[in-house]
Amino acid sequence: MKILVTGGAGYIGSVTSAELIAAGHQVIVLDSLYQGHAQAVPPEATFIQADLADRSALARLFAEHADIDGIMHFASYTLVGESMQKPLLYLRDNLVYAANLLEFAVEAGVRRFILSSTANLFDEPAKMPIDEHERIVPGSPYGESKFFIERLLHWYERIYGLKYACLRYFNASGDTPGRGEDHDPETHIIPLILQVALGQRPQITIFGDDYPTPDGTCIRDYIHIVDLAQAHILALGALDRLGSRKYNLGNGSGFSVMEVLEMCRKVTGHPIPHVIGPRRAGDPATLIAASDSIRRELGWAPRYPDLESIITSAWAWHRTHPHGYGR
Ligand code: UDP
Repeated sequence: MKILVTGGAGYIGSVTSAELIAAGHQVIVLDSLYQGHAQAVPPEATFIQADLADRSALARLFAEHADIDGIMHFASYTLVGESMQKPLLYLRDNLVYAANLLEFAVEAGVRRFILSSTANLFDEPAKMPIDEHERIVPGSPYGESKFFIERLLHWYERIYGLKYACLRYFNASGDTPGRGEDHDPETHIIPLILQVALGQRPQITIFGDDYPTPDGTCIRDYIHIVDLAQAHILALGALDRLGSRKYNLGNGSGFSVMEVLEMCRKVTGHPIPHVIGPRRAGDPATLIAASDSIRRELGWAPRYPDLESIITSAWAWHRTHPHGYGR
């Protein structure tokens, strides 16, 4: 299939583009490079540098590529914390990007759409692990923006017959030999800890040790980006057969921040000093996914189900790319 990947120069989008190409698909990457890296785009992909706010660029793209079979939409602002400081970037821009894309996509006859969504839809889960029946209570403007887009897709299916899958990721992590995590500024726990092991930071600050968890630090469900990429490819392939779907995506087991730190110490052999700081606003104590639906319906099975293999892959990337893509 010919697939348009928005945000295909980013952390998850670039790995998914590479996996799509390896699976025999043709890929067009659309990325503004506001956060992405040109070096992350697979050389086999057609690369278009443009912003989703740029309607004339979108018109050109769909005029030149009239035969797009599906879209994977990664391009968006993605940080919970930032969204609490700059809500309009999320509530307005993320929505406008998706709305522009959908408008041109449907006009061009695109029938399939995969959305990169988030566990931040579930701020008050009644049950842990969290399945797809959980009540949606976005935890931040970021989560709300993804919920808006899920609702857009709901109406685009009813009105235009677009088939879609919403993949609600828990904690995307890990790297591949050629592509990895390179955010500026970095805010995610695994790369930050590994930067301490590389001597780039003196210590890691743990945001709170007074949560209602066994060691007092937050528990998260870490899922490798290759496993996320495979979930996108499976979801795309099943849309015609199964119809629109929403899946929660994680490994189904939680690790505390302290356990992540201990595993990084083991994998790197570095003592990695830490201090305990205050809680970070908006962090729930525990987030673990129930991914039974995607396992059952699509046969999805993670290749990196354990924390050690995820961190080992991340350490391999950070050690060989201490400055990411070279900034
Ligand atoms: N965290 C931390 N120190 C940091 C960054 C993150 O203790 O410098 C914690 C954070 O509070 C959360 C967990 O690590 O409990 C995962 O955070 P991250 O930002 O990686 O992902 P999120 O859960 O926000 O998607």
